[in-house]
Amino acid sequence: MRRFSRTSAALLRVLVVAGPVLLGLLTALYAARPSGFFLALGAVLAVAIIAGDGWILARRHWITGSLALITQIAFLIFVGSYVASPLPPPPPLTDPLPQAFPPVGMAMYALPTGVNHRTAAFAHRGGSPWEKWDSAMTAVLVRHPQGDVLIDAGLGRTIASQFKQMPFLFRLGTDLVPSRAAADQLDAAGYDRKHLRYILLTHAHWDHVSGVPDFPGVPVLVTAAEHRYIDDGGWVTATAQDVNKSLLHDYMFEGGRYLGFDQSHDLYGDGSIVIVPASGHTPGSVVVFVTLPGDARYAFVGDLVWRREAILEREERPWIVRNSIDNDPVTAQQSLLRLTAIAIRYPQITMVPSHDPRAYASIPQWSRFVKALGKSRPSDTQVRQNSL
Ligand SMILES: [Zn+2]
Ligand SMILES: [Zn+2]
Repeated sequence: MRRFSRTSAALLRVLVVAGPVLLGLLTALYAARPSGFFLALGAVLAVAIIAGDGWILARRHWITGSLALITQIAFLIFVGSYVASPLPPPPPLTDPLPQAFPPVGMAMYALPTGVNHRTAAFAHRGGSPWEKWDSAMTAVLVRHPQGDVLIDAGLGRTIASQFKQMPFLFRLGTDLVPSRAAADQLDAAGYDRKHLRYILLTHAHWDHVSGVPDFPGVPVLVTAAEHRYIDDGGWVTATAQDVNKSLLHDYMFEGGRYLGFDQSHDLYGDGSIVIVPASGHTPGSVVVFVTLPGDARYAFVGDLVWRREAILEREERPWIVRNSIDNDPVTAQQSLLRLTAIAIRYPQITMVPSHDPRAYASIPQWSRFVKALGKSRPSDTQVRQNSL
């Protein structure tokens, strides 16, 4: 009995000191993947820790109590890193709205390829842990007379095998639900792939590159900085590392200032698709500005932020998320504030964080557009004519 008591006492001491560390891990996992299992386990652990604190105090185990106080305060500080903390507002943007001459026939479609179940708390500081966020995995097809461009490739046909290669802890905190690969959606509509001139990556993380292998032979546009990052990025760029090197095409930022960004690259020279460097999330992340006929303007901001609230409320990702996912959190903060300045000065530009499903509301979905044509398999010519 006495031996059991000693063992129990030792376990209680471990619980109050090490328990908060495990509770922090469960908190982070729940924010990333709102599973009832993580929530229930966390609740039981929290109650056990509080009970253990009572036992420690009653027996006046001051050394254990001091250690427990340290880890429990550390846990509260960790939880505090999820609380709202707006960045200082950026200086007003004075740049004029750039001119654009989108050609007749230019159009844009969203190709949702799946979702990742997360919470708003994972996306940005101040996000609620009780607000479910279905992180969108969406490719965007921009049709242009000089050649169509796919902005990011979404989840591809081989996502299941790609996902298996990822680290255990990441898979534990990820609830990925693929739907239909972009290539399958386009093929089903009879899209003629010879019109697809480029795949343009906002950055080279796996969830933006997964579908690239489904488009063999299509050049993939990346910045030189991102090209280097692909080689050094570890498991998050493993999918990009598998892309045939001859297909990765670097481009330069030979253009001048654009909406507060120092450099730019005008893809077709008509101002309809303009790319600017916006590093931080990855070294070669970009924002892609698209202007359609009728002057509908969009900014595809990749993963600089995950939800639009982050731009408008100037909220970074929570501490553990930005330090494990952003390549350079300080630079990412500066890039975020550039977006804030644009959003304030030019609210007519629709900000499209890659994973915010609400941001695609004004972009027609490819599958619905094809269905609206009223034919099960329209030819590519029909698709193009109807998109004019
Ligand atoms: Zn990313
Ligand atoms: Zn992403």
